Amino acid sequence: MPEKPDNLTFKQTLKMRRNYVGRSCKLHYEVSPLKIVRASRQYMYDDSGNEYLDCINNTSHVGHCHPHVIGAGQEQMSKLITAYGFLTDCQVEYAKRIVELLPESLCVCYFLNSGSEANDLALRLARSYTKQNDVIVVDNAYHGNTENLIKISPSRLKQHNLPKDDWVHIVPVPDTYRGKYREDSLSPGHLYAQEVKTAIRKAVDNGRSIAAFVSEIVMSLCGIIVPPRHFLSLTYRYVREAGGVCIADEIQTGLGRCGEKYWAFESQDVVPDIITLGKPIGNGHPMSIVITTKEISDSLKEFSSTFGGNPVACSMGMAVLDVIKNEQLLSSAKSVGKCLIQGFKAIIDNHRMMGDVRGIGMLMGVEIVIDKESRKPNKDAAELLVYKLKERKVITSNEGPDKNVIIFQPPMCFTCDNARTAVQALDQALTEVENEATQVSQESNDTIQVPLSILTGIKHKLDSDDDDDDDDDDESPNKRKKVSYEEMD
Ligand code: PMP
Repeated sequence: MPEKPDNLTFKQTLKMRRNYVGRSCKLHYEVSPLKIVRASRQYMYDDSGNEYLDCINNTSHVGHCHPHVIGAGQEQMSKLITAYGFLTDCQVEYAKRIVELLPESLCVCYFLNSGSEANDLALRLARSYTKQNDVIVVDNAYHGNTENLIKISPSRLKQHNLPKDDWVHIVPVPDTYRGKYREDSLSPGHLYAQEVKTAIRKAVDNGRSIAAFVSEIVMSLCGIIVPPRHFLSLTYRYVREAGGVCIADEIQTGLGRCGEKYWAFESQDVVPDIITLGKPIGNGHPMSIVITTKEISDSLKEFSSTFGGNPVACSMGMAVLDVIKNEQLLSSAKSVGKCLIQGFKAIIDNHRMMGDVRGIGMLMGVEIVIDKESRKPNKDAAELLVYKLKERKVITSNEGPDKNVIIFQPPMCFTCDNARTAVQALDQALTEVENEATQVSQESNDTIQVPLSILTGIKHKLDSDDDDDDDDDDESPNKRKKVSYEEMD
C-alpha cells in the first residue's frame, strides 16, 4: 500500500512535485525549498521539526490553525457544507457583520472563492454600472490570475512580455523612494495624481471611456508603496469626473493589516465604490467577497457562484472577525508594526545596502539597494538575504518589480518579541551579505556588489543532492511517469 503523502521523504515530495505539478507554479525558496508539515499561530514547522518565524503568511491572518476558526469550520461542516441557492443564516449574518464594518455606502456583498474571482466580478460590476469600458491601473500591480486580470496586472504583462490591451491604461506607481517623483518633490501626491488625469484625458481624446480605476490602497505587490498624501483622493476625484468608479483591491490589506482600522482606505481619506477582499478573510480557507453600493450592485443582471458564500466559509469568516475583536488584533497590528519599523529604522544607518524602510501596521518592506546614493535595486543581495534569513529560521520573501524589497506581512498575532527577532536576524544576515560582497569585490578587483556565487553554490548543492538517487528525473519537463511511493527511495 502506498504510504500517506505526509510520510514521504523530502526528496520524494520534491520529485513528485517535479513530476506532477506544473513547473510554472511558484515554489518559495526555489533553490532549497522548505517542506512545511504543520503550523500554529505565527510559527511554521518543517519536516525535521525546525520552527520558523513566519513573516509573510498574511493568509493565516489571525494565526495559523487558530482553534476558534478551525472549530467553527468543523462544526459547520458536520451540519451543512453546501446550500447553494437556499437561505442560510450564516451567509446573511456574515454579510451583515462585514457591512457593519464599512462606510454606509458599501452595503451589498457578493461571495466568491478567490481574490481573482472577486476582482473579476468587480470589473464586471464597474462596466455594467458605468456602461463604460476602460480600466486604469498602477504600474507593477498584480490583481489576479484570470485572463482579464493578467491584462490589468502590469507586473505580469512585463513578466510574460505581453502587449498591453488598448482598454488598459497604466499610470506610474506613486513610489516616492525610487519612482518618477520622489520625497523631495513639492507634492508628489499631486504630481502622481496628475499622471492619472493625463491618462484619462488621453483616453477620452482617443474616443475611449473609463469604467474603473483599480488599485491596492497600500500597494503591497509593487514593493509596499504607501501612496503620498492626496494621491488617492485626487485620483478618485478625476476617475469619478470621467464617469468611472474606484475599485480598491483590499485582498492583501483588508481586515486590519494596516493597523487600528479595518480597511487600508481609511488611512487614505477615500471611500471606494467597490472593494474586494480575499486572502485573510477565511484565515486560509479559500473565500473572497466583493462589497459595493446598492446602485452598482443593482446594475448587474445575473450572478452565481456554486461555492461562494457557502456556510462553512461564512462560519469561518465570522470566526475570524470574532478573533480580531477578542484578541484586539487591530491595535496590536498598530503597536507591533511600530516595533517593527522602529527596529528597522534603528539599523538602517549601519547597512549600506538597506535603502529604505516603509509600510504601515503589519505590512512592511525593506528595500535592498546597491548603495544609498544610487538607490539602484539589488535583487541578488535581496535574494541571498532571504536565504540567509531562512538559515536563521525567519521566513520572508523578496518582492516588488525588481525583487529587491524584503517583505514582512506576518499573521496578526505577531508580537514585539517576534519583531525584535526579525530585525536582529535581518541585521545579522545583511551584515554577512555586505561583508561577503565586499570580499568578493576585493578579490576579483571588480565592482561586483553581491556574492552571486553563493546563491549558485546553494543551487548546485541542491541539484547534486538530488541527482544522487534521481535516475529518471528531469529528462523532460513534467515527465508523466507513474511512480508508486514505495518505488521512490
Ligand atoms: N490582488 C492582490 C492584491 C493579491 O495579492 C492577490 C493574491 N496574491 C490577488 C489579487 C489574487 O488573489 P488569489 O490568488 O486569491 O486569486
